[in-house]
Amino acid sequence: MKKRDYYEVLGVSKGASEAEIKKAYRRLARKLHPDVNPGDKSAQKKFQEVQEAYDVLRDAEKRRAYDRFGHAGRPLAGFEGSGPAGFGGSAAGFEGGAPFEGLHFETGDLGDLFGNIFGARARATGPEKGEDSAGTIEIPFREAVLGGTTSLSLRREKECQQCHGTGRIGREVCPTCRGRGRVAEVETVRIKIPEGTEDGGTIRVPGKGSPGLRGGPTGDLFVTVRVTPHPYFERRGDDIHGTVPVTVKEAYAGAEVEVPTIHGIVRARIPPGTRGQKLRLRGKGVKNPRTGQTGDHIYTIRVVVPRTVTPAGHDAATLLDSLYDEPVRKDLPKGL
Ligand SMILES: [Zn+2]
Repeated sequence: MKKRDYYEVLGVSKGASEAEIKKAYRRLARKLHPDVNPGDKSAQKKFQEVQEAYDVLRDAEKRRAYDRFGHAGRPLAGFEGSGPAGFGGSAAGFEGGAPFEGLHFETGDLGDLFGNIFGARARATGPEKGEDSAGTIEIPFREAVLGGTTSLSLRREKECQQCHGTGRIGREVCPTCRGRGRVAEVETVRIKIPEGTEDGGTIRVPGKGSPGLRGGPTGDLFVTVRVTPHPYFERRGDDIHGTVPVTVKEAYAGAEVEVPTIHGIVRARIPPGTRGQKLRLRGKGVKNPRTGQTGDHIYTIRVVVPRTVTPAGHDAATLLDSLYDEPVRKDLPKGL
């Protein structure tokens, strides 16, 4: 297969500036990146071609060699550079008599071999995903259980818009980023809180990390969630627990009481003779984001005895006392 001209591959003129080359490369890399075109062999081939072209044209020395010798100049120029360890290893095999001088690389197996080596090298120095960044947010209990949105202000590195991340404008150092190619900005990031988020859990916000290298995708933001404890509800796994006080009569005779749940008030019947047991409202707990199942609301009955003691109250209590069919402390351990 005849190799295409590198300038043609990137769609720039022979006299293109560094910035123009970088810009063209980034545009193509974004379009052809394997992450964007999973399984697309033709895009992958083109991506490699673009990669290789950029690898040469971005480097002033390699570019000069290419301008002079065309594709034949590429192996020499690249060979001089310090490649990854694998490259040096392969090269060692050629030292014994391979025709290194001149323009022989264009023809025969050796050219292909170098092509492969260069393919590998181009990948190693190709687009790289930006670093991930991390943050912490504290959210109310209710939002963690039911989901919602919140925002987080963070300092974020972004590509400098003046120089498109090259650090240079023409021959001058970019005054905006002072040659770094990126600038730090405070950005408010909206974060979607999924239903059922746990204290200590992590939310991934794609594309809100540091910018990628050589046209690679931006890193992600990982947000650790702290859930503010609720004054009334307590979460245990996918269940939510609470306590419901009842009067002596409600406990004794049974009643319909209002039970607060995170999903709202639920009217629930408590049976006659209710003591301090736990009762359950199915499906009124936390929806588990992994299983999709919703836990229960579990409420513990607390019998509240009146504080005011009167002779009539005393008589009523004595009457109640006569109704126990077994001693209330019969299950306590004896002889510790
Ligand atoms: Zn800049």
